[in-house]
Amino acid sequence: MSDALRALYQEVILDHYKRPRNWGRLPQPTGHADGHNPLCGDRLSVDVQVEGDRVADIRVEGQGCAISVASASMMSEALKGRTVSEVTSLFDRFHEVVTGRADAEAAPLGKLAVFAGVAEFPARVKCATLAWHTLRAALDTRSGAVSTE
Ligand code: ZN
Repeated sequence: MSDALRALYQEVILDHYKRPRNWGRLPQPTGHADGHNPLCGDRLSVDVQVEGDRVADIRVEGQGCAISVASASMMSEALKGRTVSEVTSLFDRFHEVVTGRADAEAAPLGKLAVFAGVAEFPARVKCATLAWHTLRAALDTRSGAVSTE
């Protein structure tokens, strides 16, 4: 990754950290989950509104480091309006890229590619994926499944 690209990615992450999108609660969510990353202290709550098989709306609330908050903010933008199965496949690709098992270019992620650099810092992977794991748990509560997170 070039220094210029790295600087741009840093800027995008800071922007989402300072002004996180889709922040707050939904009035009547169809699913909700709380996520905690004890390694860093990040705590995020995710509300989802599922209509049919589509994730119509997402809200996130909580506190955490720049990576966890920016990841939650960008996740909410990227996933709104997607089907539940699209969300699952995007989660898998995102997870592969932040853990360094796939190249960002090989797994097209759009703006979410800014988190590819996290692969160099294994301790931050949990920060980058906390919102995603919490979202998955929120989607599961809808069907009555129990999450261990
Ligand atoms: Zn963190």
